[in-house]
Amino acid sequence: MSEDSLNSLQKTTITNCEQEPIHIIGKAQAHGVIIICDVTTLDILQCSENVEEILGFSLEEILKKNIDMILPEDLMKTLVRKLKDNITLLPKTIRLNNKEFFIIPHLSGESLILDFDPHGGSLDPLVYQEQLTKILNEIGDKQTIPEISQNAVELVKYLFDYDRVMMYQFDEEWNGKVVAEVKESHLESWLGLHYPASDIPKQARQIFLKQGVRIIADVNYKPAAIFPELSPINGKPIDISKSELRAVSPIHIEYLQNMGVGASLTAAIVLNGELWGLLACHHYSPKFINYNQRQSCKFLTQVFSNKLALRTSNVFIEKMAYSEDIRKKLVLQMSSIKHLNDAICKFEPNFTNIVECSGGALVLDGTICMVGKTPTEEQIKFLVSEFLTKQEESLFFTKNLMKKIPSATSFKDKASGVLSIRIGENKNDYLLWFRPQAIESVSWGGKPVKSGVVKDGVEYLSPRRSFEKWTEKKSGAAIPWEEYDFEAAYNLEESITNIIVRNQKDHIKALNDQLLEANKELETFSYSVSHDLRAPLRGIDGYARILRDYCKNKTDDYGRNAINTIINSAELMDTLIEDIISYSKVGQTRIQPVSLSINTILDQILTTHNLSGEYPKTEIIVQEDIPRIVADRRMFSQLLANLVGNALKYSAKTAHPTVELGFDVKDGRTVYFVKDNGIGIDAAGKEKIFEVFSRVAGDDFAGSGVGLAIAKKIIEKHNGALWLDSKLNEGSTFYFSIPEDL
Ligand code: ADP
Repeated sequence: MSEDSLNSLQKTTITNCEQEPIHIIGKAQAHGVIIICDVTTLDILQCSENVEEILGFSLEEILKKNIDMILPEDLMKTLVRKLKDNITLLPKTIRLNNKEFFIIPHLSGESLILDFDPHGGSLDPLVYQEQLTKILNEIGDKQTIPEISQNAVELVKYLFDYDRVMMYQFDEEWNGKVVAEVKESHLESWLGLHYPASDIPKQARQIFLKQGVRIIADVNYKPAAIFPELSPINGKPIDISKSELRAVSPIHIEYLQNMGVGASLTAAIVLNGELWGLLACHHYSPKFINYNQRQSCKFLTQVFSNKLALRTSNVFIEKMAYSEDIRKKLVLQMSSIKHLNDAICKFEPNFTNIVECSGGALVLDGTICMVGKTPTEEQIKFLVSEFLTKQEESLFFTKNLMKKIPSATSFKDKASGVLSIRIGENKNDYLLWFRPQAIESVSWGGKPVKSGVVKDGVEYLSPRRSFEKWTEKKSGAAIPWEEYDFEAAYNLEESITNIIVRNQKDHIKALNDQLLEANKELETFSYSVSHDLRAPLRGIDGYARILRDYCKNKTDDYGRNAINTIINSAELMDTLIEDIISYSKVGQTRIQPVSLSINTILDQILTTHNLSGEYPKTEIIVQEDIPRIVADRRMFSQLLANLVGNALKYSAKTAHPTVELGFDVKDGRTVYFVKDNGIGIDAAGKEKIFEVFSRVAGDDFAGSGVGLAIAKKIIEKHNGALWLDSKLNEGSTFYFSIPEDL
């Protein structure tokens, strides 16, 4: 940048001013000298042009020479070593040109940057110590953040005597507000004034974060350019942002000049790694404070930041303790009151008490419960369905809903601020808290509109010239939500979800109990079926037989047929009852697994069947070495009896009935099978045959349609599988297998 451009309009456009490269402004402030050396050779590569005036060496004399012409070689060696090892250095003082200087070194890439900063008169170590003690003792005994801030500015005024000392706090949009101030009595107060974010652009804030304390000793100084402008090491401008002597952005200088400021000190207040605010001191004539004093000031800001952090976390803890208390009461209410809506909306405390708000809504299972000042039910429905359900995060908050949903303007006096959290996983259930817009009068130190000047069609940034107090009625935004509000919302949501889950568990348990009860009733029913129904059935059967004998010669064929039908029907009914009882018993009974020989069971089954009588033609093939199985003895006997019985029955009418019983090993597991060459089952039949009372074979074959339902239940009880292969008129194979580790 040329010298001429400094006092004229800066060629920084409105759009790119945030990128103004202030970290590489290649100039030093007038009161000190910057010397840049190659860190390896320690040859002087660059130097600020005021070197002759301040240190008494001309540029030609020192450029390309070794630094040992100014500073002792030993000192330099230790200094470089410590810098490379990241060891904190106390700056050395040195006498040059009849003046004392602090040598403040740092590294920037391959370059070693040395600030020759005037000593500015000696400071008695005792006074220095006293300053530090005072800082420690006096800051932070007060309670609130404005009080601590006032405390700090008063101390800075006392220690360094600037005309005006201010604590300046940023809001979330980086506008600043003067929250504490001490000044000379003839100056106008700026306390409470707001400054637009553009007054301290982003890159300036980043530099503050890095650098801590910065002074401009004389706002009207003539900056000394670094020569040569580009680093001989890489041909690029050198980053001297960490230099204590770095010249200030010309825009900032013009800004201060416009305010009539002659010297300034600025120190960053950093809270949790972020810029919380600035300590800003103005003097209306040139003023220099030396390195040690600046260190005291840095110490002060650190103590202040600590107290601030402590205070902020205390506020957090207090707020959390309060909301925890409410949450616990709400949990009690939820545990004792049946309906959740009632429990948290209709009693005191209600859920809106957990954060500071003017109203809230609980949207649960399609109903909306509103408490306090809220938008209408329709508006809440709209907010939830059109906006909240589309958010990815469960927690949503804004202090200015209108910026997200323009139609929300109509209810800004009720809900400009919205905090909401999704309940559980369900995207339709929410807790919402509302805050109305906060109408406050904001006094700006000048209009918060960036003023630009258009020249040759390009808009240029021009530091504003008006610092008149300017008041604006700010509306729209609500008081912002804080971290403790989010915590309170999260915690309450968690409790509600827990209660919902618990209620669901209770509900499931109740259903289970009902089911058990129903099963018991079924058992009782089966019992009564077996006893109460069978007794009269035996009566019918017995007397029908007596009647058959009695009427042997006294009735005709019609009478005899009728009596036989009664006897057959009674027998069929008895089988049906028997099967129903077996089926329900399988459901009730717990399996008692033992090792079983399938071959032995099959032998018993085949002996009980009247094979020569009922199935004289059937060839039965039983594999000899069928593997043992671990299963419930009674159930598996029944399972095999049902399958074998069916195979015999449904193949008996074929020409050469064959029934084969055996096993296969498929995919490492034993699969048992019962195969016949009987009537087979078509595809539709296969779907149905495992259901109770479902028969597809027709009346040619006797049966109740329960056998396979029982078989299926038995296999299910053993966590196994039962399936079949069958073709109509060709035969069927039923397979089953169960896990070996029951
Ligand atoms: P059912 O007492 O009728 O045999 P099941 O439950 O044992 O009752 O069988 C249901 C139906 O499945 C039978 O009615 C029959 O239609 C069919 N079925 C069962 N096993 C066979 C088989 N081996 N061959 C052909 N059809 C069979």
